[in-house]
Amino acid sequence: MKITRILAYRVELPLHETTYKWSGGKSVTIFDSTIVQVETDAGLIGYGEVCPLGPFYLPAYADGVRAGLRELGPHVLGQDPRQLAKLNRTMDAALKGHPYVKSGIDIACWDILGQASRLPVCELLGGRYGNDVPLYRAISQESPEQMAAKVAGYRAEGYHRFQLKVGGDPDVDIARIHAVAAKLQTGDRLIADANTGWVQHEAVRVAKAVRDVDVYIEQPCLTYEECLAVRRQCPHPFVLDENIDGLDVLLRAKADLAMDVVNLKISKFGGLTKIRQARDLCVSMGIAMTLEDSWGGDIATAAIAHLAQSTPPELLFTTTDFNSYVTVSTAEGAPQRVKGRMAASTAPGLGIRPKLAVLGEPVLAIGG
Ligand code: MG
Repeated sequence: MKITRILAYRVELPLHETTYKWSGGKSVTIFDSTIVQVETDAGLIGYGEVCPLGPFYLPAYADGVRAGLRELGPHVLGQDPRQLAKLNRTMDAALKGHPYVKSGIDIACWDILGQASRLPVCELLGGRYGNDVPLYRAISQESPEQMAAKVAGYRAEGYHRFQLKVGGDPDVDIARIHAVAAKLQTGDRLIADANTGWVQHEAVRVAKAVRDVDVYIEQPCLTYEECLAVRRQCPHPFVLDENIDGLDVLLRAKADLAMDVVNLKISKFGGLTKIRQARDLCVSMGIAMTLEDSWGGDIATAAIAHLAQSTPPELLFTTTDFNSYVTVSTAEGAPQRVKGRMAASTAPGLGIRPKLAVLGEPVLAIGG
């Protein structure tokens, strides 16, 4: 089987909550997502999605996905989409770095492999655990009172894990954590994600001020070393995210005892093939994971669900359903949240069927 053509579509994804805000005054109102369509000479077609969290979260931006595909696409034509390690080696030889550019092609090829073998992607990624996976809800950065109200509302919708966007003024963040914690019940999990927004002394202050709160602290500072210094003074379970973008730093963080949980994002690693390596390494090392992506709609959420549900449940800390945050649906068959949980499709591949009328005309076509 050979890849014959690659198309890309640009889709705007507005938010039900209008705006998503996090540390440092950063925000997004309409997400700019790229849906990648990979066609083959066997008639099978696969889909992937890459949606950066704006241009200032990770080293990725929406137009960069398309520009990168224009560069990378011709090298992928003629490759067998089912031979994923080989395909990734070809992509890495053709374009150094830029993992997020490769992610959409890789996901689409897993979709094709699943269709060709008549197996859901989660079974190809190692096997399906249980009936569904637990979701967290990200709580956009607002006043302490507004965030506490949002948590109460999403709790009523069935979520039991809440990731607060902090990383602002440390005193306000302390109030945010206390206000939200007051709304929680037994079994709920609270994560305060600073998204690199605190400097080291502020992070230590916040951790000490919420010493008595049952809360996880995620990525307090910009650098790995700053985070490690905070971790060593922090009584809370600790999550690393932005700094963990490859196997080298994952192994270093394990050796340094730098985290209890790691947040792995598909496009940060460059697709399902590469994140699977990191996921399986974490399973072997006993490190729990939040498995997700930067953002996305139905297709990204489908890929996340297959990754999450093929992970041993005791090491899957949480995952996310981005398609429920946005107002536009791009595919049939994507996971739908039920009582704060979602399930990967049992259909072959990702189990999604794109809504071509929503995708519109492709913005990019390579080959064919
Ligand atoms: Mg995070």
